[in-house]
Formats: sequence, structure tokens, C-alpha cells
Amino acid sequence: MKNLPLYFDYAATTPVDERVIEVMVECLGKAGNFGNPASGSHIYGQQAQQAVELARRQVASLVGASAEQIVWTSGATESNNLALKGVAQSRAGQGGHIITSRIEHKAVLDTAGQLEQAGFSVTCLAPDAQGLISPQAVKAALRDDTFLVSLMLVNNELGTLNDVVGIGEQVRRHGALLHVDAAQGAGKVAIDLASWPVDLMSFSAHKVYGPKGIGALYVGPRARSQLRAQIHGGGHEGGLRSGTLATHQIAAMGAAFALAGEVFEEETARIRRLQRRLLAHLADIPYVGRNGSPQQCIAHTLSLTFINADFNRQALSQVLAFSSTSACNSASTAPSHVLLALGRDAEAARQTIRLSLGRYTTEQDVEQAAQAIKASLSAPAFWAVARH
Ligand SMILES: *Cc1c(COP(=O)(O)O)cnc(C)c1O
Repeated sequence: MKNLPLYFDYAATTPVDERVIEVMVECLGKAGNFGNPASGSHIYGQQAQQAVELARRQVASLVGASAEQIVWTSGATESNNLALKGVAQSRAGQGGHIITSRIEHKAVLDTAGQLEQAGFSVTCLAPDAQGLISPQAVKAALRDDTFLVSLMLVNNELGTLNDVVGIGEQVRRHGALLHVDAAQGAGKVAIDLASWPVDLMSFSAHKVYGPKGIGALYVGPRARSQLRAQIHGGGHEGGLRSGTLATHQIAAMGAAFALAGEVFEEETARIRRLQRRLLAHLADIPYVGRNGSPQQCIAHTLSLTFINADFNRQALSQVLAFSSTSACNSASTAPSHVLLALGRDAEAARQTIRLSLGRYTTEQDVEQAAQAIKASLSAPAFWAVARH
């Protein structure tokens, strides 16, 4: 694995932490904790169940929830589907109004689109120029028949941080439910569901140094009776999500979230220092603009647009692994829906990169990244134009 580009795409996914791998491997082989957590009649099943319940407490603990409020899913995509479709389905023929935003992850946007086709009415709020959705904007969009609001905590392309507490106060006053996609927030933002007015929250392990294919949905007391299962068969997870629990994935997610809590202060401070350093280097370059609020944001994710410069994406890609948009959209060549919603045009979107830093990013990586970005930019071909 020599000469691989430096990894600057932690917002797309993270490597599994070695300490998490150890926990995961212990749940696989015949000498390990391989039992079916639902086999309560013998020790194999009971031990597996204990591992699952420990993990449930670990995930709950990072976000200020209680263990019985955590439902395992296959990832944040499924959590978002369960939250939106599950609440909509409990409306049984009444229809109603859902509020979301134009800068949500596709797992929310496409699901909201499905519900719209099924007869629900959907408002997609535009973000402000800073990439934020304000409580006032949500308040203004609430209608008599609004039953659900779904907005993200941290935007995956911009790193912007919504005031979900302020939003939740508006939504709660109105009597609707608030779902928050926190896939990019867990481990990076202090979340306290015990005091936050949030009813449903989605999590994913692989954004927090856990494995892919496992996630969770927090289901608060107000949401419980209004959520219908989307996957049936066996009644696991209090009937909300059937399927044999993947002990190794779940134990790993628990370990990853517990670790995230342990290293939280130190890691966020370190990444903030690294980001400041990167920005200080880039401050010398006249062509660099930053997308999204520089105040209300996390330090891990940085969206940069190169203005009036010739940007050699190819050259930069050889040194840095970054993304142009979120990984889930990278299959299409369409410009990022998030940048378009911010009022950027397709050309600006082509000149945009997302750099995301994480647990294994070093100062040296940041120095090299800054050099590589500088080298990939040159003054626009003014001379060529002037000669004509
Ligand atoms: C990654 C991500 C998802 C999808 O999570 P998966 O576990 O990969 O399904 C959803 N929302 C946001 C904001 C994300 O960053």
C-alpha cells in the first residue's frame, strides 16, 4: 500500500479503530461470542444478548439516552427510512405535512420523495447563505397538519451545525415530532437527548470508527407509539425492527461509541487545531472560499471552492483522497445538491472540494495537504485571454 493518497475523506467513512476490531472479532468464531442473541435458552445466546445490551448502553450513553430507547438498524440510511416512513405510516390515511431541507442526506430526501408520492405533502426548506436551517425558518413553515420535521444535526458536505434544540422547541410547541439525522454529529458534537427536544435520531457506526452496515435509531417517548416497523419477522427490537441481531456489528458499534466518548475532548480539540493550521496555510491563497458557516460548524469537515483559479483536480487527487460531493452521490456526475441549494452554480460546484479530517490525521498530513492544494491551483489564463 505504498504511495496511496493521504486520506481526507473521514466524512465518507472511517477506518475501524483497532480497539473496536478486537471487540468485533471476539463475536465471530467458535471460541468466541457467536450465539444468537435471541437464543435465551442457553449460555451461548445469553452471552450474545449481554454483548448486545452492553453495546446498547454504550451507544445510549454517548448521546444521553437510555438503553431501551436505542433500536438497532443496518445504518443511518435505514434509521432515516424507519423514522420517516414509520411515523408517516402511523397516520393511516390521514395524510399530512412533513418539513425537511434541501441539504439533507439523500436517505432523507429520497424517503421524503417517496412519501410525497404516497400522498403526503413535503416542504423542503432552503438553507440560509451559511448553510443553516434556523428555528425561525422551521416555525414559519409549520402548518396545522405538520406531523414530522426531519433535519440533520451536522451537514455531511459543509460541516455546518444546526440549532436542533431551538428547532425542537418550535416543533414541540406545535405538537409535531422532530427527527434528526446525526450520522455526522455523533462523536463530534456533545449530544444530550435527555434534555434535547428531539424525538428520533439516526446514527451510523462507520462514521465513528466502527464497521459499516450497522446503525441505530433513538426513539424517544413521544415517538414510540407513533412509529411503525418497516421490517417484519420475529418482532425483535420491541417489534420495531426484526432480524437476527448482528452481535459482532452491534458490539463493535457499542465499543466505537464508548471510545468516541472517552476521546471526545482531546480528539475534537486536536482536530480543531489541525483545521486551524490548514486554514492558516490556505489563507495565503487568494482563490479559496469556504462554504457554510465558519462559526456554527464542526472542525472535521471543510468545504472549499476555488474561485477564479485553474484547479487541477486530477493532480490533487493523486496526493489527497477527498471528495467533490458526498460519497453517496459520487456515482452521479450531477453537481452537489447541497452546493446548489447554497446558491452556488454548477461551475462553482466543479471547483469545490470537501476535506474531512479524523482520528488518524496528523500535522504532517495537513502540511502536505496544504502544499498539494497550493500546487493544484494556478492563476486563470488571463494572459491567453488578453492576447486576443
Ligand atoms: C453517512 C450518512 C448517512 C448514511 O449512513 P449509512 O450508515 O452509510 O447508511 C446518512 N446521513 C448522513 C448525514 C450521513 O453522513
